[in-house]
Amino acid sequence: MSAPAREFLRALPKVELHCHFASTIRPGRLVAWARERGVALASEDPADLARYTGLADFLRSFNAAHAVFRSSDDIALVAHEGVRAAVATTNLRYREYHVNPGNFAELGLPWPSVLAGLVQGLTRAEQEFGVGFGIVPAINRARDLAAAHAVLDVVLAHPHPAVVGLGQDDLAADGYESPTAWEPVYRRAREAGLRTTAHVGEIATSTAASVLEAVEVLQLDRVDHGYHVVDDPVAVDRAREAGVHFCCTPTSAHLLSGWALDADHPVARMVEAGLSVNLSTDDEVFFDTSLQAEYEHVGLDLGLDRQALERIALDGVEASFAPEATRERLRAEVLALTGT
Ligand SMILES: [Zn+2]
Repeated sequence: MSAPAREFLRALPKVELHCHFASTIRPGRLVAWARERGVALASEDPADLARYTGLADFLRSFNAAHAVFRSSDDIALVAHEGVRAAVATTNLRYREYHVNPGNFAELGLPWPSVLAGLVQGLTRAEQEFGVGFGIVPAINRARDLAAAHAVLDVVLAHPHPAVVGLGQDDLAADGYESPTAWEPVYRRAREAGLRTTAHVGEIATSTAASVLEAVEVLQLDRVDHGYHVVDDPVAVDRAREAGVHFCCTPTSAHLLSGWALDADHPVARMVEAGLSVNLSTDDEVFFDTSLQAEYEHVGLDLGLDRQALERIALDGVEASFAPEATRERLRAEVLALTGT
């Protein structure tokens, strides 16, 4: 089976589901605003920003980057520029953003301002480039349960059709993923009609059992990462039967967890095992990556063929939290290219 051509990888209509909004800032803008606004970055060289000793080290950079945003207009500008940059290199058609209301609120940007900026910038981008969007507020696992409830309170107090789910970021204070600690918040979110996703199965201390436990306890629609599920074939079968979707990020898994970008990468093993998988950048500016680069890694380095990439594109459409009419349009775009 020959490797898919770069042109096919570029033209394939893409849905991105695991994308942290603050990380869609362009490297030049991040560095310029940090200088102008007195925000200390780990480095002012974008290539250096992608060098980490591990997830905790990366998270310091990620959290610090929120401090360059000062207004709703800043959010709108970054949102628009992020889509423009993505469509310049690949056929992005729809993207969902993890946005951390707590991080912005601590810096003086309350959720209504953040949401207004996102909707303004992303709507403008949708009109210009036809890229749809959804917003998935994230609770911060480094804070306590009361803080997570407070994030959900403010999200539910400002409903918007683009706010489609609840997710999470950062790590628990003890350095563990601890996804199930947030069960009461996830239950409230589900009862309020939000879909759910959680970061789990990424770090060395997580296991296949902890991935399954998170899926069951939090009643997840999606898992962000989830790589350790492949450690146990029985868990893989159960995850497949549960129909849960995995939002995978090959480059961040390589940089933070040390999996080589080759046929043994967990993303290749997950796809081979028949799990529902899609590809995302996670934190584009901090991992010096792009959605096109993620697809090139999977098609050219991990060795997945065209059929597998078509399946990844379609799995992303089905797993998105977009309305059915949007998913129908996206599905048709993928099938129009692949001709199946
Ligand atoms: Zn993430």
